[in-house]
Amino acid sequence: MPRNLVILGSTGSIGRQTLDVVRALTDRIHVYGLAGHRNVQLLMDQAEEFRPQVVVSAASLRGHDLGDCEIGQGEAAVLDLVNRPQVDLVVVASAGAGGLMPTLAALRAGKLVALANKETLVMAGPVIRQELEAGNGELVPIDSEHSAIWQCLQGEPHRSIERLILTASGGALRELSPEQLEAVTPEQALHHPTWNMGKKITVDCANLMNKGLETIEAHWLFDIPMDRIEVVLHHQNIVHSLVAFDDSSTKAQLGLPDMRLPIQYALSHPERWPNELPRLDLAAAGTLTFSPLDLERYPALRVALQAGREGGTYPAVLAAADEIAVEAFLDRQISFTRIPQIVETTLLRHTSCQSPTLDDILGADAWGRGEAKQLISS
Ligand code: MG
Repeated sequence: MPRNLVILGSTGSIGRQTLDVVRALTDRIHVYGLAGHRNVQLLMDQAEEFRPQVVVSAASLRGHDLGDCEIGQGEAAVLDLVNRPQVDLVVVASAGAGGLMPTLAALRAGKLVALANKETLVMAGPVIRQELEAGNGELVPIDSEHSAIWQCLQGEPHRSIERLILTASGGALRELSPEQLEAVTPEQALHHPTWNMGKKITVDCANLMNKGLETIEAHWLFDIPMDRIEVVLHHQNIVHSLVAFDDSSTKAQLGLPDMRLPIQYALSHPERWPNELPRLDLAAAGTLTFSPLDLERYPALRVALQAGREGGTYPAVLAAADEIAVEAFLDRQISFTRIPQIVETTLLRHTSCQSPTLDDILGADAWGRGEAKQLISS
């Protein structure tokens, strides 16, 4: 029997690639539900092709006819969808803070959640961890770095992990001088050399904020302290991340930069399913380079790591202020180099609480957004 899959954010980059993977797996996976944001036409086309039982959109779908497919709108319909007993797997690929509540609901309903959304674990790591430790649901990563670490950890005892090593490409703007960075346009920042992703995450990659968010995510996903997670520059994007063990062994996961592998592995684990994806040819890839990272060159990463180490509600404020600052940059209200400054000032003004509840986290998120907006307009 194929397992029933729900994709939240099916019209985004990861959502579309998930459907690409599922297209070749119809005997193993059935698309039960699709939820999209505002790209109604694409959502309708996907529903037409995959014939799900339920389609949910942020925009109104009135006037669209999908035969006997149920149509819903808004967050309540998303929560209802992930709660249904028929659903086995939920891919959370929606952007921004909107991933949090559906992830919590799906875990509480005992589902396997494959998480591509960054903000969920950054904001609410302690709350998600509590759910997992209470035995509610299962959480697996889709992000390439976390999938690499997860694959390296198969069959390994947790106590033997010495360090996690995340690789970073260094971003699209890594050759620019500080003066050139000041003048970077949204068009420049949105051009990523290897990955084709959503706008927010592409800007986060350009200043390495993304790598800071990923470090915080890795901390909660794998239950490893922040100070035992390292970042190393690796321009070729072939080694997706590594784990160092306490017997001096280091394992890495390698592959071409193609999100369809980590997406498929999230669905297939602990098995591997054969596919037709392009294979890595190491001789053709040539030289792989690794170098240390200069935090002075990447203030966004420095600020994110600091927020992660402080913990409490700082990471929620980090994620909130970054979302607002990136939006303002894309709207040409602030320069590229102002993004980490806005985030850092917001964090400095924040009073965190330790062991935050969900309410504390949602409060910090709202506060961080308001504070960042005020800083941008003043
Ligand atoms: Mg990544």
